[in-house]
Amino acid sequence: MLGQMQDWPLLVSKFIEHAAINHPKREIVSMLPEGGQFRYTYAEHEVRAKKCAQALQKLGVKFGDRVATLAWNSHRHMEIWFGASGMGAVTHTVNPRLFPEQLVYIMNHAEDKVLMLDITFVPLIEAIAGHLTSIEHYVIMVGKDKMPETSLKGALSYEELVEAEDGNYSWPEFDENTACGLCYTSGTTGNPKGVLYSHRSNFLHTLLALAGDTLGITSTSVILPVVPMFHANAWGIPFAAAGSGAKLVLNGPHHDPDTLHNLIVEEGITVTAAVPTVWLGMLKYLQATGKDMAKLTTVTIGGSAAPRSMIEAFQRDYGVRVNHAWGMTETSPLGSLGSENAAIQSLSEEEKLDIQCKQGRSVLGVEMSIQDDKGNALPRDGKTSGRLMVRGPWVVESYFRGEAGNLLEEGNWFDTGDVACIDEYGYMQITDRAKDVIKSGGEWISSIDLENAAVAHPKVAEAAVIGIFHPKWDERPLLVVVMEEGQCVTHEEMNAFLADKVAKWWLPDDLAVVTELPHTATGKISKKTLRETFKDYSFPEA
Ligand code: ADP
Repeated sequence: MLGQMQDWPLLVSKFIEHAAINHPKREIVSMLPEGGQFRYTYAEHEVRAKKCAQALQKLGVKFGDRVATLAWNSHRHMEIWFGASGMGAVTHTVNPRLFPEQLVYIMNHAEDKVLMLDITFVPLIEAIAGHLTSIEHYVIMVGKDKMPETSLKGALSYEELVEAEDGNYSWPEFDENTACGLCYTSGTTGNPKGVLYSHRSNFLHTLLALAGDTLGITSTSVILPVVPMFHANAWGIPFAAAGSGAKLVLNGPHHDPDTLHNLIVEEGITVTAAVPTVWLGMLKYLQATGKDMAKLTTVTIGGSAAPRSMIEAFQRDYGVRVNHAWGMTETSPLGSLGSENAAIQSLSEEEKLDIQCKQGRSVLGVEMSIQDDKGNALPRDGKTSGRLMVRGPWVVESYFRGEAGNLLEEGNWFDTGDVACIDEYGYMQITDRAKDVIKSGGEWISSIDLENAAVAHPKVAEAAVIGIFHPKWDERPLLVVVMEEGQCVTHEEMNAFLADKVAKWWLPDDLAVVTELPHTATGKISKKTLRETFKDYSFPEA
Protein backbone atom coordinates (compact mmCIF):
# COMPACT_ATOMS: atom_id res chain seq x y z
CA MET A 1 0.00 0.00 0.00
CA LEU A 2 1.36 3.43 -0.91
CA GLY A 3 1.09 6.51 1.27
CA GLN A 4 -1.35 9.17 0.20
CA MET A 5 0.66 12.32 0.57
CA GLN A 6 1.49 14.83 -2.16
CA ASP A 7 4.27 13.96 -4.53
CA TRP A 8 5.96 17.35 -4.45
CA PRO A 9 9.24 17.28 -6.37
CA LEU A 10 12.21 18.31 -4.23
CA LEU A 11 13.63 21.10 -6.42
CA VAL A 12 16.22 23.70 -5.40
CA SER A 13 14.04 26.52 -6.80
CA LYS A 14 11.87 25.89 -3.73
CA PHE A 15 14.62 27.38 -1.54
CA ILE A 16 14.76 30.72 -3.27
CA GLU A 17 11.00 30.85 -3.64
CA HIS A 18 10.66 30.17 0.08
CA ALA A 19 13.18 32.89 0.95
CA ALA A 20 11.51 35.46 -1.31
CA ILE A 21 8.04 34.79 0.15
CA ASN A 22 8.91 34.25 3.80
CA HIS A 23 12.07 36.29 4.30
CA PRO A 24 11.70 38.93 1.56
CA LYS A 25 13.70 41.66 3.34
CA ARG A 26 16.57 39.48 4.56
CA GLU A 27 19.82 40.56 2.97
CA ILE A 28 22.46 39.07 0.71
CA VAL A 29 25.70 41.06 0.91
CA SER A 30 28.31 40.51 -1.77
CA MET A 31 31.91 41.68 -2.28
CA LEU A 32 32.36 42.30 -5.97
CA PRO A 33 35.37 41.04 -7.92
CA GLU A 34 35.43 44.33 -9.85
CA GLY A 35 35.63 46.19 -6.51
CA GLY A 36 33.08 47.45 -4.00
CA GLN A 37 30.21 45.85 -2.18
CA PHE A 38 26.62 45.16 -3.15
CA ARG A 39 23.56 44.33 -1.06
CA TYR A 40 19.96 43.46 -1.79
CA THR A 41 17.20 41.23 -0.44
CA TYR A 42 16.06 37.67 -1.09
CA ALA A 43 12.96 39.09 -2.81
CA GLU A 44 15.17 41.05 -5.21
CA HIS A 45 17.49 38.08 -5.56
CA GLU A 46 14.70 35.79 -6.73
CA VAL A 47 13.59 38.27 -9.41
CA ARG A 48 17.16 38.46 -10.71
CA ALA A 49 17.52 34.65 -10.64
CA LYS A 50 14.38 34.45 -12.77
CA LYS A 51 15.75 37.06 -15.15
CA CYS A 52 18.93 34.99 -15.36
CA ALA A 53 16.86 31.92 -16.29
CA GLN A 54 15.10 33.95 -19.00
CA ALA A 55 18.45 35.23 -20.31
CA LEU A 56 19.85 31.69 -20.43
CA GLN A 57 16.83 30.55 -22.41
CA LYS A 58 17.47 33.34 -24.92
CA LEU A 59 21.06 32.14 -25.25
CA GLY A 60 19.63 28.78 -26.27
CA VAL A 61 20.18 26.91 -23.02
CA LYS A 62 17.82 23.97 -22.78
CA PHE A 63 16.79 21.47 -20.13
CA GLY A 64 19.84 19.41 -19.16
CA ASP A 65 22.42 21.72 -20.80
CA ARG A 66 25.47 22.54 -18.71
CA VAL A 67 26.08 26.16 -17.67
CA ALA A 68 29.59 26.59 -16.31
CA THR A 69 30.54 29.16 -13.70
CA LEU A 70 34.09 30.26 -13.00
CA ALA A 71 33.41 32.60 -10.15
CA TRP A 72 34.00 33.62 -6.56
CA ASN A 73 31.22 33.61 -3.99
CA SER A 74 28.91 36.45 -5.01
CA HIS A 75 25.23 37.35 -5.41
CA ARG A 76 25.61 36.92 -9.19
CA HIS A 77 27.04 33.44 -8.76
CA MET A 78 24.00 32.57 -6.61
CA GLU A 79 21.63 34.02 -9.22
CA ILE A 80 23.18 31.72 -11.81
CA TRP A 81 22.91 28.72 -9.47
CA PHE A 82 19.21 29.29 -8.97
CA GLY A 83 18.61 30.57 -12.51
CA ALA A 84 20.34 27.72 -14.35
CA SER A 85 19.40 24.84 -12.04
CA GLY A 86 15.93 26.30 -11.43
CA MET A 87 15.14 26.18 -15.15
CA GLY A 88 16.31 22.57 -15.41
CA ALA A 89 19.82 23.18 -16.74
CA VAL A 90 22.89 21.99 -14.81
CA THR A 91 25.17 24.43 -12.99
CA HIS A 92 28.75 23.30 -13.43
CA THR A 93 30.89 25.03 -10.81
CA VAL A 94 34.43 25.10 -12.19
CA ASN A 95 37.34 25.41 -9.76
CA PRO A 96 39.59 28.23 -11.02
CA ARG A 97 42.51 26.82 -9.04
CA LEU A 98 42.80 23.85 -11.38
CA PHE A 99 45.65 23.77 -13.89
CA PRO A 100 44.74 25.16 -17.35
CA GLU A 101 44.91 21.64 -18.90
CA GLN A 102 42.46 20.37 -16.26
CA LEU A 103 40.12 23.30 -16.92
CA VAL A 104 40.11 22.45 -20.61
CA TYR A 105 39.56 18.79 -19.83
CA ILE A 106 36.58 19.27 -17.53
CA MET A 107 34.79 21.95 -19.57
CA ASN A 108 35.08 19.79 -22.69
CA HIS A 109 34.14 16.65 -20.77
CA ALA A 110 31.07 18.40 -19.33
CA GLU A 111 30.26 19.89 -22.77
CA ASP A 112 29.48 23.22 -21.16
CA LYS A 113 27.38 25.41 -23.43
CA VAL A 114 27.73 28.74 -21.66
CA LEU A 115 30.57 29.94 -19.45
CA MET A 116 29.76 32.61 -16.88
CA LEU A 117 33.01 34.05 -15.54
CA ASP A 118 34.18 36.69 -13.12
CA ILE A 119 36.25 39.49 -14.61
CA THR A 120 39.23 38.17 -12.61
CA PHE A 121 39.32 35.01 -14.73
CA VAL A 122 39.17 36.58 -18.19
CA PRO A 123 42.95 36.21 -18.84
CA LEU A 124 42.85 32.58 -17.63
CA ILE A 125 40.10 31.70 -20.12
CA GLU A 126 41.54 33.79 -22.97
CA ALA A 127 44.65 31.62 -22.75
CA ILE A 128 42.72 28.36 -23.20
CA ALA A 129 39.63 29.43 -25.20
CA GLY A 130 41.12 27.94 -28.39
CA HIS A 131 40.90 24.49 -26.80
CA LEU A 132 37.35 24.75 -25.47
CA THR A 133 35.19 22.79 -27.87
CA SER A 134 31.62 23.25 -26.63
CA ILE A 135 31.25 26.79 -25.24
CA GLU A 136 28.89 28.87 -27.37
CA HIS A 137 28.73 31.98 -25.17
CA TYR A 138 31.13 33.68 -22.79
CA VAL A 139 29.33 35.85 -20.26
CA ILE A 140 31.48 38.12 -18.09
CA MET A 141 29.85 38.75 -14.73
CA VAL A 142 30.00 42.57 -14.72
CA GLY A 143 27.98 45.55 -15.96
CA LYS A 144 28.46 46.85 -19.50
CA ASP A 145 30.50 49.80 -18.18
CA LYS A 146 33.03 47.40 -16.60
CA MET A 147 33.39 45.08 -19.62
CA PRO A 148 37.10 44.49 -20.31
CA GLU A 149 38.81 44.45 -23.69
CA THR A 150 38.86 40.75 -24.44
CA SER A 151 39.66 38.25 -27.14
CA LEU A 152 36.80 35.98 -25.93
CA LYS A 153 34.53 35.66 -28.95
CA GLY A 154 31.22 37.55 -28.61
CA ALA A 155 31.74 38.13 -24.88
CA LEU A 156 28.55 39.38 -23.23
CA SER A 157 27.93 41.44 -20.10
CA TYR A 158 26.01 39.51 -17.42
CA GLU A 159 24.29 42.62 -16.07
CA GLU A 160 23.19 43.70 -19.52
CA LEU A 161 21.76 40.26 -20.27
CA VAL A 162 19.88 40.01 -16.98
CA GLU A 163 18.55 43.55 -17.02
CA ALA A 164 17.07 43.05 -20.49
CA GLU A 165 14.57 40.55 -19.00
CA ASP A 166 11.31 41.28 -17.16
CA GLY A 167 11.45 38.55 -14.48
CA ASN A 168 7.99 37.37 -15.46
CA TYR A 169 8.84 33.71 -15.09
CA SER A 170 7.60 30.78 -13.02
CA TRP A 171 9.99 28.06 -11.87
CA PRO A 172 9.12 24.95 -13.84
CA GLU A 173 8.29 21.66 -12.11
CA PHE A 174 10.09 18.51 -13.17
CA ASP A 175 11.39 15.23 -11.79
CA GLU A 176 13.39 15.72 -8.58
CA ASN A 177 15.99 13.24 -9.83
CA THR A 178 16.93 15.66 -12.63
CA ALA A 179 20.60 16.71 -12.61
CA CYS A 180 21.08 20.02 -10.79
CA GLY A 181 24.79 20.67 -10.37
CA LEU A 182 28.10 19.28 -11.54
CA CYS A 183 31.37 19.47 -9.64
CA TYR A 184 34.62 17.74 -10.56
CA THR A 185 36.89 16.30 -7.91
CA SER A 186 40.37 17.71 -8.22
CA GLY A 187 41.73 14.38 -9.34
CA THR A 188 44.62 13.49 -7.08
CA THR A 189 44.76 10.37 -9.27
CA GLY A 190 43.92 10.34 -12.98
CA ASN A 191 41.66 12.87 -14.64
CA PRO A 192 39.16 14.92 -12.61
CA LYS A 193 35.82 13.13 -12.26
CA GLY A 194 32.41 14.75 -12.35
CA VAL A 195 29.97 14.36 -9.48
CA LEU A 196 26.49 15.06 -10.79
CA TYR A 197 24.15 16.19 -8.00
CA SER A 198 20.39 15.91 -8.43
CA HIS A 199 17.73 18.33 -7.17
CA ARG A 200 16.62 15.64 -4.77
CA SER A 201 20.12 15.04 -3.37
CA ASN A 202 20.71 18.78 -2.91
CA PHE A 203 17.29 19.25 -1.30
CA LEU A 204 17.77 16.44 1.21
CA HIS A 205 21.32 17.60 1.91
CA THR A 206 19.96 21.09 2.65
CA LEU A 207 17.37 19.79 5.12
CA LEU A 208 20.22 18.01 6.89
CA ALA A 209 22.42 21.11 6.78
CA LEU A 210 19.63 22.96 8.58
CA ALA A 211 19.25 20.39 11.35
CA GLY A 212 20.03 21.67 14.85
CA ASP A 213 23.17 19.57 15.26
CA THR A 214 24.69 20.44 11.92
CA LEU A 215 26.00 23.88 10.85
CA GLY A 216 24.11 25.96 13.41
CA ILE A 217 22.05 27.84 10.79
CA THR A 218 18.66 29.34 11.67
CA SER A 219 16.61 32.20 10.26
CA THR A 220 18.34 34.64 12.63
CA SER A 221 21.84 33.52 11.59
CA VAL A 222 24.20 35.71 9.62
CA ILE A 223 26.39 33.41 7.53
CA LEU A 224 29.72 33.88 5.84
CA PRO A 225 30.58 30.75 3.84
CA VAL A 226 34.25 31.41 3.20
CA VAL A 227 34.42 28.01 1.53
CA PRO A 228 34.05 28.68 -2.21
CA MET A 229 30.90 27.80 -4.15
CA PHE A 230 33.12 25.90 -6.61
CA HIS A 231 34.25 23.59 -3.82
CA ALA A 232 31.49 21.03 -3.17
CA ASN A 233 28.75 23.67 -3.36
CA ALA A 234 30.27 25.74 -0.53
CA TRP A 235 29.24 22.82 1.68
CA GLY A 236 25.63 23.51 0.71
CA ILE A 237 25.52 26.79 2.63
CA PRO A 238 23.98 29.02 -0.08
CA PHE A 239 21.03 26.60 -0.39
CA ALA A 240 20.74 26.34 3.40
CA ALA A 241 20.84 30.13 3.79
CA ALA A 242 17.97 30.61 1.34
CA GLY A 243 16.11 27.64 2.83
CA SER A 244 16.26 29.17 6.30
CA GLY A 245 16.15 32.89 5.51
CA ALA A 246 19.54 33.51 7.11
CA LYS A 247 21.39 36.66 6.07
CA LEU A 248 24.11 35.63 3.65
CA VAL A 249 27.45 37.41 3.30
CA LEU A 250 29.66 36.51 0.34
CA ASN A 251 33.32 37.46 0.41
CA GLY A 252 34.01 37.50 -3.35
CA PRO A 253 37.70 37.12 -4.19
CA HIS A 254 38.83 38.15 -0.68
CA HIS A 255 40.26 35.50 1.63
CA ASP A 256 42.64 37.62 3.70
CA PRO A 257 42.00 37.77 7.46
CA ASP A 258 41.66 41.56 7.41
CA THR A 259 38.72 41.57 4.95
CA LEU A 260 37.10 38.52 6.53
CA HIS A 261 37.38 40.03 9.99
CA ASN A 262 35.90 43.30 8.77
CA LEU A 263 32.91 41.41 7.39
CA ILE A 264 32.55 39.43 10.62
CA VAL A 265 32.37 42.67 12.61
CA GLU A 266 30.48 44.95 10.18
CA GLU A 267 27.84 42.44 9.14
CA GLY A 268 27.50 40.72 12.53
CA ILE A 269 28.43 37.24 11.30
CA THR A 270 27.27 34.46 13.66
CA VAL A 271 28.18 31.35 11.64
CA THR A 272 30.96 30.63 9.22
CA ALA A 273 32.80 27.73 7.56
CA ALA A 274 36.17 27.19 5.91
CA VAL A 275 39.23 24.99 5.57
CA PRO A 276 41.85 25.02 8.38
CA THR A 277 44.32 27.25 6.49
CA VAL A 278 41.85 30.14 6.51
CA TRP A 279 41.26 29.81 10.25
CA LEU A 280 44.96 29.43 11.04
CA GLY A 281 45.47 32.75 9.23
CA MET A 282 42.60 34.31 11.18
CA LEU A 283 43.97 33.08 14.49
CA LYS A 284 47.35 34.65 13.81
CA TYR A 285 45.61 37.87 12.81
CA LEU A 286 43.55 37.95 16.02
CA GLN A 287 46.60 37.21 18.15
CA ALA A 288 48.61 39.96 16.41
CA THR A 289 45.89 42.62 16.52
CA GLY A 290 44.21 41.79 19.83
CA LYS A 291 40.82 41.90 18.09
CA ASP A 292 37.91 39.62 19.00
CA MET A 293 35.37 37.66 16.97
CA ALA A 294 32.40 39.99 17.66
CA LYS A 295 29.12 38.05 17.33
CA LEU A 296 30.59 34.87 15.85
CA THR A 297 29.42 31.77 17.71
CA THR A 298 30.13 28.80 15.42
CA VAL A 299 32.86 27.92 12.97
CA THR A 300 32.68 24.73 10.91
CA ILE A 301 36.10 23.50 9.83
CA GLY A 302 36.64 20.74 7.31
CA GLY A 303 38.41 19.78 4.10
CA SER A 304 41.55 18.77 6.01
CA ALA A 305 42.20 17.98 9.64
CA ALA A 306 41.78 20.86 12.08
CA PRO A 307 44.73 21.00 14.51
CA ARG A 308 43.89 20.67 18.21
CA SER A 309 45.72 23.88 19.14
CA MET A 310 43.50 25.83 16.76
CA ILE A 311 40.23 24.32 18.00
CA GLU A 312 41.30 25.03 21.55
CA ALA A 313 42.34 28.63 20.89
CA PHE A 314 39.08 29.56 19.14
CA GLN A 315 36.99 28.14 21.96
CA ARG A 316 39.10 29.25 24.92
CA ASP A 317 40.23 32.68 23.76
CA TYR A 318 37.42 33.78 21.46
CA GLY A 319 34.32 31.93 22.66
CA VAL A 320 33.71 30.43 19.23
CA ARG A 321 32.51 26.82 19.07
CA VAL A 322 34.45 24.77 16.50
CA ASN A 323 32.66 21.98 14.70
CA HIS A 324 35.06 19.74 12.89
CA ALA A 325 33.41 18.28 9.80
CA TRP A 326 34.31 15.67 7.23
CA GLY A 327 33.06 15.28 3.70
CA MET A 328 34.03 15.13 0.08
CA THR A 329 32.76 16.28 -3.31
CA GLU A 330 31.27 12.79 -3.66
CA THR A 331 29.19 13.26 -0.48
CA SER A 332 27.69 16.67 -1.38
CA PRO A 333 29.77 17.17 0.93
CA LEU A 334 28.41 16.79 4.48
CA GLY A 335 29.17 13.33 5.88
CA SER A 336 30.03 13.81 9.53
CA LEU A 337 30.15 16.68 11.95
CA GLY A 338 31.53 17.05 15.45
CA SER A 339 28.74 18.65 17.43
CA GLU A 340 28.35 17.29 20.94
CA ASN A 341 26.02 14.33 21.53
CA ALA A 342 24.52 13.31 24.86
CA ALA A 343 26.99 10.44 25.28
CA ILE A 344 29.97 12.79 25.67
CA GLN A 345 28.33 15.56 27.67
CA SER A 346 29.64 14.32 30.99
CA LEU A 347 33.25 13.96 29.81
CA SER A 348 35.96 16.37 30.98
CA GLU A 349 36.86 19.38 28.81
CA GLU A 350 40.13 17.70 27.83
CA GLU A 351 38.34 14.53 26.77
CA LYS A 352 35.81 16.58 24.81
CA LEU A 353 38.65 18.34 23.05
CA ASP A 354 40.13 14.96 22.10
CA ILE A 355 36.80 14.09 20.52
CA GLN A 356 36.56 17.44 18.74
CA CYS A 357 39.83 16.66 16.99
CA LYS A 358 38.07 13.70 15.38
CA GLN A 359 36.01 14.33 12.25
CA GLY A 360 32.61 13.99 13.87
CA ARG A 361 29.71 11.58 13.88
CA SER A 362 27.74 10.59 10.83
CA VAL A 363 24.79 12.83 10.06
CA LEU A 364 21.30 11.45 9.52
CA GLY A 365 21.23 10.36 5.88
CA VAL A 366 24.83 9.20 5.65
CA GLU A 367 25.69 5.74 6.95
CA MET A 368 29.31 4.96 7.74
CA SER A 369 31.16 1.72 8.10
CA ILE A 370 34.81 0.86 8.69
CA GLN A 371 35.73 -2.17 6.61
CA ASP A 372 38.71 -4.35 5.87
CA ASP A 373 39.84 -5.12 2.32
CA LYS A 374 37.34 -7.98 2.04
CA GLY A 375 34.36 -5.82 2.97
CA ASN A 376 34.02 -7.09 6.56
CA ALA A 377 32.80 -4.51 9.04
CA LEU A 378 35.41 -3.71 11.70
CA PRO A 379 34.62 -2.92 15.36
CA ARG A 380 33.68 0.58 16.46
CA ASP A 381 36.25 0.66 19.23
CA GLY A 382 38.08 3.89 18.42
CA LYS A 383 41.26 1.91 17.67
CA THR A 384 40.69 -0.40 14.71
CA SER A 385 41.07 1.53 11.49
CA GLY A 386 40.06 0.48 8.02
CA ARG A 387 38.49 1.74 4.83
CA LEU A 388 35.86 4.41 5.47
CA MET A 389 32.76 3.40 3.50
CA VAL A 390 29.64 5.57 3.17
CA ARG A 391 26.20 5.35 1.61
CA GLY A 392 23.13 7.56 1.50
CA PRO A 393 20.91 9.66 -0.77
CA TRP A 394 23.49 12.42 -1.26
CA VAL A 395 26.45 10.07 -1.79
CA VAL A 396 27.67 9.55 -5.37
CA GLU A 397 26.46 6.48 -7.25
CA SER A 398 28.59 6.87 -10.38
CA TYR A 399 30.73 9.60 -11.93
CA PHE A 400 29.54 11.70 -14.86
CA ARG A 401 29.67 9.72 -18.13
CA GLY A 402 30.48 6.57 -16.16
CA GLU A 403 34.18 7.42 -15.63
CA ALA A 404 35.93 4.90 -13.37
CA GLY A 405 33.11 2.39 -13.89
CA ASN A 406 31.12 0.89 -11.06
CA LEU A 407 31.94 2.78 -7.86
CA LEU A 408 29.85 0.90 -5.35
CA GLU A 409 30.76 -2.25 -3.47
CA GLU A 410 28.43 -4.89 -2.04
CA GLY A 411 25.66 -3.20 -0.05
CA ASN A 412 26.02 0.02 -2.12
CA TRP A 413 28.96 1.17 -0.06
CA PHE A 414 31.17 3.86 -1.59
CA ASP A 415 34.86 3.63 -0.68
CA THR A 416 35.92 7.16 0.31
CA GLY A 417 39.62 6.40 -0.04
CA ASP A 418 40.05 7.52 3.57
CA VAL A 419 41.26 5.33 6.39
CA ALA A 420 39.41 5.88 9.65
CA CYS A 421 38.21 4.48 12.95
CA ILE A 422 34.94 5.08 14.79
CA ASP A 423 34.80 5.28 18.58
CA GLU A 424 32.20 3.99 21.05
CA TYR A 425 30.40 7.36 21.01
CA GLY A 426 30.06 7.27 17.22
CA TYR A 427 32.80 9.81 16.43
CA MET A 428 34.82 9.02 13.34
CA GLN A 429 38.49 9.82 13.05
CA ILE A 430 40.33 10.00 9.77
CA THR A 431 43.72 8.44 10.27
CA ASP A 432 44.84 8.83 6.69
CA ARG A 433 44.11 8.82 2.98
CA ALA A 434 44.49 5.18 1.91
CA LYS A 435 47.30 6.12 -0.45
CA ASP A 436 49.12 8.27 2.12
CA VAL A 437 49.35 5.76 4.96
CA ILE A 438 52.95 4.84 5.72
CA LYS A 439 53.29 1.07 5.79
CA SER A 440 56.15 0.35 8.13
CA GLY A 441 56.95 -3.31 8.80
CA GLY A 442 53.36 -4.35 8.11
CA GLU A 443 51.95 -1.74 10.51
CA TRP A 444 50.36 1.56 9.55
CA ILE A 445 51.62 4.98 10.53
CA SER A 446 49.10 7.78 10.15
CA SER A 447 50.64 10.67 8.23
CA ILE A 448 47.84 12.94 9.48
CA ASP A 449 48.54 12.25 13.16
CA LEU A 450 52.23 12.88 12.67
CA GLU A 451 51.56 16.10 10.76
CA ASN A 452 49.19 17.38 13.44
CA ALA A 453 51.71 16.64 16.15
CA ALA A 454 54.55 18.31 14.21
CA VAL A 455 52.60 21.45 13.31
CA ALA A 456 51.96 22.08 17.01
CA HIS A 457 55.70 22.89 17.33
CA PRO A 458 55.87 26.67 17.77
CA LYS A 459 58.61 27.06 15.15
CA VAL A 460 56.75 25.08 12.46
CA ALA A 461 54.32 26.77 10.07
CA GLU A 462 53.23 23.76 8.00
CA ALA A 463 54.09 20.06 7.98
CA ALA A 464 53.61 17.06 5.72
CA VAL A 465 54.65 13.46 6.12
CA ILE A 466 55.30 11.02 3.30
CA GLY A 467 56.44 7.42 3.23
CA ILE A 468 59.89 6.83 1.78
CA PHE A 469 61.26 3.45 0.76
CA HIS A 470 63.21 1.70 3.49
CA PRO A 471 65.11 -1.58 2.86
CA LYS A 472 64.14 -3.09 6.19
CA TRP A 473 60.70 -1.62 6.97
CA ASP A 474 59.35 -1.10 3.42
CA GLU A 475 58.47 2.50 4.22
CA ARG A 476 59.41 4.98 6.90
CA PRO A 477 58.10 8.51 7.50
CA LEU A 478 59.90 11.59 6.20
CA LEU A 479 58.70 14.81 7.81
CA VAL A 480 58.74 17.81 5.47
CA VAL A 481 58.26 21.18 7.15
CA VAL A 482 57.97 24.85 6.38
CA MET A 483 59.46 26.87 9.24
CA GLU A 484 58.00 30.01 10.76
CA GLU A 485 59.97 33.02 9.50
CA GLY A 486 63.54 33.08 10.78
CA GLN A 487 63.12 29.85 12.76
CA CYS A 488 64.91 26.53 12.57
CA VAL A 489 64.37 23.06 14.08
CA THR A 490 66.68 20.06 13.81
CA HIS A 491 65.56 16.47 13.33
CA GLU A 492 66.66 15.64 16.89
CA GLU A 493 64.76 18.58 18.40
CA MET A 494 61.64 17.64 16.48
CA ASN A 495 61.76 14.00 17.55
CA ALA A 496 62.25 15.07 21.15
CA PHE A 497 59.16 17.27 20.78
CA LEU A 498 57.15 14.43 19.24
CA ALA A 499 58.35 11.77 21.70
CA ASP A 500 55.40 12.08 24.10
CA LYS A 501 52.85 12.66 21.33
CA VAL A 502 53.19 9.63 19.07
CA ALA A 503 54.35 6.03 19.37
CA LYS A 504 58.13 5.71 19.40
CA TRP A 505 58.21 3.63 16.20
CA TRP A 506 56.28 6.43 14.44
CA LEU A 507 59.04 9.03 14.90
CA PRO A 508 60.16 10.37 11.49
CA ASP A 509 63.41 8.95 10.19
CA ASP A 510 64.40 12.33 8.86
CA LEU A 511 63.27 15.92 8.58
CA ALA A 512 63.47 18.04 5.44
CA VAL A 513 62.94 21.79 5.44
CA VAL A 514 61.31 23.43 2.40
CA THR A 515 60.22 27.01 1.76
CA GLU A 516 56.80 25.99 0.51
CA LEU A 517 54.61 22.87 0.37
CA PRO A 518 52.68 22.05 -2.82
CA HIS A 519 48.88 22.36 -2.58
CA THR A 520 46.04 20.94 -4.67
CA ALA A 521 43.24 23.01 -6.21
CA THR A 522 41.13 22.39 -3.11
CA GLY A 523 43.86 23.67 -0.81
CA LYS A 524 45.10 20.33 0.52
CA ILE A 525 48.78 19.48 0.66
CA SER A 526 49.55 17.61 -2.56
CA LYS A 527 51.25 14.45 -1.36
CA LYS A 528 51.46 13.30 -4.96
CA THR A 529 53.66 16.29 -5.89
CA LEU A 530 55.63 15.94 -2.69
CA ARG A 531 56.32 12.26 -3.34
CA GLU A 532 57.45 13.23 -6.83
CA THR A 533 59.83 15.88 -5.39
CA PHE A 534 61.34 13.38 -2.97
CA LYS A 535 61.36 10.38 -5.31
CA ASP A 536 65.18 10.16 -5.34
CA TYR A 537 65.52 10.76 -1.63
CA SER A 538 66.86 8.01 0.61
CA PHE A 539 67.30 8.00 4.38
CA PRO A 540 70.86 8.74 5.53
CA GLU A 541 71.23 5.43 7.40
CA ALA A 542 69.30 3.32 4.88
P1 ADP B 1 39.38 16.58 -3.55
O1 ADP B 1 38.86 16.96 -4.87
O2 ADP B 1 40.71 17.15 -3.15
O3 ADP B 1 39.25 15.11 -3.24
P2 ADP B 1 37.35 16.93 -1.60
O4 ADP B 1 36.89 18.13 -0.90
O5 ADP B 1 36.33 16.10 -2.24
O6 ADP B 1 38.40 17.40 -2.61
O7 ADP B 1 38.25 16.10 -0.61
C1 ADP B 1 37.70 15.13 0.22
C2 ADP B 1 38.77 14.59 1.11
O8 ADP B 1 39.27 15.59 1.98
C3 ADP B 1 38.28 13.52 2.05
O9 ADP B 1 38.18 12.28 1.41
C4 ADP B 1 39.34 13.54 3.14
O10 ADP B 1 40.49 12.83 2.77
C5 ADP B 1 39.69 15.00 3.21
N1 ADP B 1 38.98 15.63 4.33
C6 ADP B 1 37.83 16.28 4.32
N2 ADP B 1 37.51 16.75 5.52
C7 ADP B 1 38.50 16.38 6.36
C8 ADP B 1 38.78 16.56 7.76
N3 ADP B 1 37.97 17.25 8.56
N4 ADP B 1 39.91 16.01 8.25
C9 ADP B 1 40.76 15.32 7.46
N5 ADP B 1 40.57 15.13 6.15
C10 ADP B 1 39.45 15.65 5.60
